Amino acid sequence: MAELEGPEYGKADFVLLDEVTMEQFLENLRLRFSQGRIYTYIGEVVVAVNPYQTLALYGPPMVERYRGRELYERPPHLFALADAAYKAMKRRAKDTCIVISGESGAGKTEASKYIMQYIAAITNPTQRAEVERVKNVLLKSNCVLEAFGNAKTNRNDNSSRFGKYMDINFDFKGDPTGGHVHNYLLEKSRVLQQQPGERNFHAFYQLLLGAPAALLSSLHLCRDPSTYCYTREGAQGDVNDASSYRAVEEAMAVIGFSPEEMGSVRRILAAILHLGNLRFTQEEEMTLVEDTSGVSVLAELTATAPDSLRQALLTRTVAAGAGELIEKGHSPKEAAYARDACAKAIYERLFCWIVGRINAGIAARGYDARVHGKSTVIGVLDIYGFEIFDTNSFEQFCINYCNEKLQQLFIELILRQEQAEYQREGITWQSIEYFSNEPIVELVEQPHRGILALLDEACLAAGTITDSLFLASMDTRLGHHPHYTSRKLCPTDKTMEFNRDFRIKHYAGDVTYSVEGFLDKNKDTLFQDFKRLFYNSADPVLRAMWPDGEQSITEVTKRPLTTGTLFKNSIVALVENLASKEPYYVRCIKPNDQKSPTLFDVERCRHQVSYLGLLENVRVRRAGFAYRQPYHRFLLRYKMTCEYTWPNHLMASDQEATQALLEQHGFQDDVAYGHTKVFIRTPRTLVRLEQERAQLI
Ligand code: ADP
Ligand code: MG
Repeated sequence: MAELEGPEYGKADFVLLDEVTMEQFLENLRLRFSQGRIYTYIGEVVVAVNPYQTLALYGPPMVERYRGRELYERPPHLFALADAAYKAMKRRAKDTCIVISGESGAGKTEASKYIMQYIAAITNPTQRAEVERVKNVLLKSNCVLEAFGNAKTNRNDNSSRFGKYMDINFDFKGDPTGGHVHNYLLEKSRVLQQQPGERNFHAFYQLLLGAPAALLSSLHLCRDPSTYCYTREGAQGDVNDASSYRAVEEAMAVIGFSPEEMGSVRRILAAILHLGNLRFTQEEEMTLVEDTSGVSVLAELTATAPDSLRQALLTRTVAAGAGELIEKGHSPKEAAYARDACAKAIYERLFCWIVGRINAGIAARGYDARVHGKSTVIGVLDIYGFEIFDTNSFEQFCINYCNEKLQQLFIELILRQEQAEYQREGITWQSIEYFSNEPIVELVEQPHRGILALLDEACLAAGTITDSLFLASMDTRLGHHPHYTSRKLCPTDKTMEFNRDFRIKHYAGDVTYSVEGFLDKNKDTLFQDFKRLFYNSADPVLRAMWPDGEQSITEVTKRPLTTGTLFKNSIVALVENLASKEPYYVRCIKPNDQKSPTLFDVERCRHQVSYLGLLENVRVRRAGFAYRQPYHRFLLRYKMTCEYTWPNHLMASDQEATQALLEQHGFQDDVAYGHTKVFIRTPRTLVRLEQERAQLI
């Protein structure tokens, strides 16, 4: 039980609720939120509500309050969790990870930054220069990743459009020596198009509104984002774009991007904007670029030959058998499609290149395990939460699959951790029942039979297959699955479109997906012509992004892995990685859709509590022992409630003293004594101990 928190502040830990009901859970959450107490525990899990206001919770005095303390000694806080992960890493040489989940705008990315700030603040007391450099680069990397991977959406002004997992490496002294970022599934379709009121990635507006005039004119750009198709929707800009531009430039320099590399990055961004403005027309069966000056500007920015560029834009090379190649002209529509595919691909590769470059900047340098001892790791995962929109497409399908996997891991690990602790402490444990989402995960990922496999199969089939044929094949082969329905199998359900929709019963609720675009997005075709063009660019950065451009068209017989399969593989690897570490969880909740610091929208919160499985989490925690603490800490708090232990006990061990105390209160049937900790089964006992204590102070 957290210190300094009386009953008027609600329960600092949900396991202390009188009853585990949704109503009590929500009421406790609301009460605490209304007092600016945005953090609450479920055992060692931190539940965080986005305060939508600046709270004085993160400055140096707060860092000092939490540094080296145990979880229950202070009011619930991210810092306490970060400290616990850090201690486990340092004292027990455990690799740990902090998994942050919640829906868009719930506060995941902010939480991940506070955690990193805390770790940076408590490490390197001796101010070693190399460690300071590493810390600085780690902190600065966020700024660059956000510029290129975040965008304004209707849910969040600074929404991460990619998943991020960052490892921080520590030496035996517990100081950071380096790190590594993994990125997952960037929402690259945003480069082309945004919902009304949303924006493209920040980097575009930052360049247009923040770059000096001379630089802008050398890129053939004008200040006004509404000039460019790709940035027209978010053209009103943001007050911070100009200053963010400078901050990002500075951060890139600190990370180690060279001036030449930064020049290439700007040219590539400019090239994408120019590319988006190309229009195609038809004249006597020939497709032409409407405004030819656009092509020469693009050729200059990408350091490619104008003729090759024009050719890549207007034709594609296809293998005609027997090693023969023929050139096939695009229709204007095909050319526009190829242009957009190209813009998305360039941006995605730029983003991955930037992540790679950051990784080179933060790689653990000169670390020799033989000299420095084993390196340990804290991983921080900030990844998209469940998405249920009005129309859900391939992206939501991938994201929600990822959440199924993480939820599965969450339940398993929480249970496993509990079990491991009881074993360590020599206490018997009875396993409990819980909802397993295994069948849903299988529905998606099973080889040969799952949705992703059927999708790949459809993508492999020759040209004629369509999204609705893919839907038909799912209906035939998955129709019996308890978590799958489509309109055809359920003709009375008017909430779905007949030839378009299917529904998955996710653990978080039912989601209807539209198959439109599934094949296209999964195949993610980019003509080899573009790859070869950029591979031959004179710009070394652009060139480095297209290693696959070296292959000739006849060599490109092996189909590249599809987006769905690549995503699945990366998530499977992620889950394996997380499972090998000691996990800590932050579950973020968005209190309302208005970004209001005072409004607690009960229905919105109810939904999140339910799909994050938080009640289940409380139940798991209470099924065994709701509360546990090392004997000496327990005595420190409660010794005044018993004559044998106040002011100090004279018994042989803290365990005996604890036993005497609990027996005097008549709680002996509700507790168990482990090797180092006392375990209390029901929260009621703890509440009564707290009451005894409160009467005396
Ligand atoms: P997510 O990553 O979950 O989509 P963010 O972390 O980007 O959400 O948070 C969205 C916005 O909410 C932030 O830009 C910020 O304005 C506000 N916010 C989130 N967490 C906090 C916090 N702890 N304190 C103050 N504001 C916050
Ligand atoms: Mg985010």
